[in-house]
Amino acid sequence: NSSLQDDHKPRILLMGLRRSGKSSIQKVVFHKMSPNETLFLESTNKIVKDDINNSSFVQFQIWDFPGQIDFFDPTFDSDTIFGGCGALVFVIDAQDDYMDALNKLQLTVTKAYRVNSNIKFEVFIHKVDGLNDDYKMESQRDIHQRATDDLADAGLEHVHLSFHLTSIYDHSIFEAFSKVVQKLIPQLPTLENLLNILISNSGIEKAFLFDVVSKIYIATDSSPVDMQSYELCCDMIDVVIDISCIYGMVDETETSTFNSQSSSLIKLNNGTVLYLREVNKFLALVCILREENFQKQGVIDYNFLCFRDAITQVFELRNKCQNLEDASPMG
Ligand code: GDP
Repeated sequence: NSSLQDDHKPRILLMGLRRSGKSSIQKVVFHKMSPNETLFLESTNKIVKDDINNSSFVQFQIWDFPGQIDFFDPTFDSDTIFGGCGALVFVIDAQDDYMDALNKLQLTVTKAYRVNSNIKFEVFIHKVDGLNDDYKMESQRDIHQRATDDLADAGLEHVHLSFHLTSIYDHSIFEAFSKVVQKLIPQLPTLENLLNILISNSGIEKAFLFDVVSKIYIATDSSPVDMQSYELCCDMIDVVIDISCIYGMVDETETSTFNSQSSSLIKLNNGTVLYLREVNKFLALVCILREENFQKQGVIDYNFLCFRDAITQVFELRNKCQNLEDASPMG
């Protein structure tokens, strides 16, 4: 039953003033649009429910609101909109005067929190590609300060806002979305544990579990993430997808050239190996390791199969629990 399933999809709302960059973010992250093409996007003037769930593991919707939406308009059904929402991403254009945006943020958080106190509030300080580092830090500090002051004025000092510096011109937007999505995955600690076990038993330095379509990483091992490794792994996914689109065989039952046989190996000239393995229809594991450790590929492949089994079980359990919930009258 698709409507029942819909209820379980963690939903992300994307909000912010007009021209703050919402449609661009959505197109770049979920529809592979190149950043330069967003210059020609038409402004949003209605709620856009973008359902990417058929192609992506991360089941969520992005609702793009026009900037000037009026919460007090009776046709704005805030119970439905905020009620089922897991995270609210509020986009602020850092290249513009942000006072209006901050007012709007306060209004939005107040309204949303009243309907649903479980929402995670995420503020994207966006378009920071045009700012120098000092100014970037200064705007983040200033926006953080003003936003939390505004909330305190509204009696909501206990509501937590998270801040991210983002731009569609580099990987920061994917990184930020990864963090947002990870908070909505209840199995995250289990996934991290499995990744830790995998890397320590296989001589791997870093491993990411990717949602292939969006290049969001839904989990990684507990060693720190450096941007460069993440970018390398993103690039690897692009290469694999491009190659399989050009040379892959697609039969009529498959919508994607990415399937259970997908795997790929890239050796860099600094002695590093990038290794990609398909986990299921939506997810791929991408690892970074030293070339000498890759000589034991048999061990790595065996460990990978155990890892894949474990992941499958984790998500089967999730589906079973959800079916039980659906069956119970308490919902
Ligand atoms: P929306 O009305 O919030 O949906 O905003 P749009 O997505 O239409 O974006 C408005 C303008 O901002 C477009 O011209 C985009 O190219 C530009 N834009 C979006 N994101 C960025 C960014 O990260 N950096 C820069 N420099 N421009 C951006």
